[in-house]
Formats: sequence, C-alpha cells, structure tokens
Amino acid sequence: MDQFRQGSKKFFLEAIDRRFREDRFLKKIHKFLPHYALAENVPMARFTSLRIGGPARFFAEPHSLEELRRLLRCAREAELRVFVLGAGTNLLVDDGGFFGLVLRLRGAFWERYYFRSEGITARCGLSLRCLGRLCGENAIGGYEFCNGIPGTVGGAIFQNAGAFGSAIGDLIREVAILQPDGEFARLRPAFSYRRSFLPAGAIVLSVELLRQEGDKDHIFRRQKEMAKMRRERQPREPSAGSLFRNPPSHSAGELIERAGLKGFRVGGAQISRKHGNFAVNAGGATCADVLNLTFFVKHTVRERFKIDLEPEVYYLANSPEESP
Ligand SMILES: Cc1cc2nc3c(=O)[nH]c(=O)nc-3n(C[C@H](O)[C@H](O)[C@H](O)COP(=O)(O)OP(=O)(O)OC[C@H]3O[C@@H](n4cnc5c(N)ncnc54)[C@H](O)[C@@H]3O)c2cc1C
Repeated sequence: MDQFRQGSKKFFLEAIDRRFREDRFLKKIHKFLPHYALAENVPMARFTSLRIGGPARFFAEPHSLEELRRLLRCAREAELRVFVLGAGTNLLVDDGGFFGLVLRLRGAFWERYYFRSEGITARCGLSLRCLGRLCGENAIGGYEFCNGIPGTVGGAIFQNAGAFGSAIGDLIREVAILQPDGEFARLRPAFSYRRSFLPAGAIVLSVELLRQEGDKDHIFRRQKEMAKMRRERQPREPSAGSLFRNPPSHSAGELIERAGLKGFRVGGAQISRKHGNFAVNAGGATCADVLNLTFFVKHTVRERFKIDLEPEVYYLANSPEESP
C-alpha cells in the first residue's frame, strides 16, 4: 500500500514538473521568437515511414539557422528535451508520444546543395534520393547507393547509412554541426557500420562530400540494378528499413527467416513475407505491436542461434533511458 502511495506521488510531481517546463518554454518562445507559430501535440505518425507514433508536445520547423538556435536556446533554458527529425525513415515513436521539442529540418533552407569543382556541399534536409540523382546527372561516381535510401543527409550521417557495400561515411570530407550549447563546429567524425561518432547531442547542419568523376552511363546502370534489387527484395508496406543490424558474419534477415518468422504477426505489425529483417505496418499497427514483435523475434533468434540481435531502428519515447 505504501509503495502505491509513494508511486502515485512521484508521478504527480513529475506531471507538475512537466507543466512548469512547458510553461517556461512557452514564455521563452514568446520572448525570443514572439511571432513564431509553434505547433503543439502533433501526431508523429504523420512524420514517420512506419506511420506510427503518438504526439510530440512541441513541434517546430525552423526556416533559418538563427531560428533553430533560438528554439534550442528556449528548450535548453526550459530544460526541455529536443529531438531532431529527418525524414523519419529509421524511427519508431512511442504510442505515448514525446514530451519535448521535435525539430524538423526540412524545406528550402535545409535542402540546399552546391556542386563545386572540389566537392559537394549538402545541407542536412536534402533527401539522399535527390543527392544520388544529382550526382548521377553530374557524372559524379560513388553515390549510386543513395538512390534507394529514403532518408535525409542529416539522418544518413547520424547513422552512417549505406547499402550494397558503400556507406555515406566513406564519402565525407567534413561535417558542420551545431552543438547543444549553440556553438558551431566543423569536424571529420569517425564512422563504423551504421554508426557515426559525433559529439553527444550534435545536430548535423551540412556536409562536405567528396567529388569523384564517374561515367554517367555506368552510374545510371548501377542505379537501375540497385532499384531492381530493392523492388525484388524489399516490402512495399510502411516500414522503417532494416529492423536489426547484421551481427558479425551473419545476415539478420537470414537468421529471422531460418527461425521461421517471416510473416509472423503481432497486432498490426508483421515481419515481412518478402524480407525477414523488415517489420512492416500491415494495417493499424501501434508502437506496442512493433515492440512486442521485436522482442519476440530477438528472443526466438537468441534461443535458436545464441545470437543477440541489436535493433537498427531508433526509438523515441518519454523515458530518457529508452530514447536516443
Ligand atoms: C524502405 C526503406 C529502405 C531503407 N534502406 C536503407 C538502406 O539501404 N541503408 C540504410 O542505411 N538505411 C536504410 N533505411 C533506413 C533509413 O532510410 C536511413 O537510415 C536514413 O539514413 C535515415 O534518415 P532519416 O532522415 O529518415 O532519419 P530519421 O529516421 O528522421 O532519424 C534517425 C536518427 O537520426 C537522427 N537525425 C536525423 N537528422 C539529424 C540531423 N540533422 N542531425 C543529427 N541527428 C539527426 C535522429 O535524431 C534519429 O536519431 C531504409 C528505410 C526504409 C523505410
């Protein structure tokens, strides 16, 4: 009984603390961005490729660097958590949503790019598909793999996106970031398989990419081949790409298939019948369905093969321990 009383008091205090923080945040916005149209309680399902996710308490789409810095300052001073959203194609958002500020860096300002003789500059909101297409048109080789990846440049740098043996990290000269304290920095981060080593909380603003000459016909042929392979192997239903990272010397998809889990379903979430490493929203899936499905697959693969699969998809939730 005591435990129950203590628990409910804790949640009550947490709820009051949230109200204080949102109140402080709104006052800061009023002071530093008086005419800014801040969106509230925005369903995140609209902004994720899985079409899943509860509301973001605050949601902003800054149109300039200065607006972004001011928004960050307001959140910092109100002790509000911040999440940077790209295209939401590698993201699972909790059904309970996110108590904090979601920053979506898309639109004309964030999608600019410049082709120079010494390299390519791309801002974080540019889609990888667009980058791949532009490189093809300009006979720049090495970016063919970008075409089939539905995310943004920012999201790709964050997790070193790649396919068909190539990854964005191999093509980077320099990354421009905004640090949580509002300072800018330029660096060349280290990269490993689906991972980049950026300073904690860094926002990728833009990237300088290598420019290497290629043959247009060869590039377009490779792009076509890759697109064909994707069409044959990957599902069409909403997904967040690969559910698990490939463990050393194994393919996560093959392990899941060998465990007999293709087509396995929990509520509206299903392991694709086409590809074992894709969890799809087969209709009306909730985040809880995807979490239960992921747990079951991970557990089954561990029992069968003694291999621990590690999720590749990022999870956004209210508990700081569970979120990126
Ligand atoms: C059908 C399908 C196929 C896919 N195929 C591939 C594939 O072949 N290879 C591959 O690697 N991935 C693949 N993906 C996954 C996904 O598209 C990539 O990982 C992509 O790079 C994610 O980018 P995003 O903009 O959607 O990031 P989001 O999903 O929006 O965010 C993912 C993470 O990146 C962080 N982030 C986003 N932007 C920034 C920024 N500017 N600064 C700092 N952090 C940021 C977010 O905070 C979050 O933690 C696929 C997904 C789908 C749906």
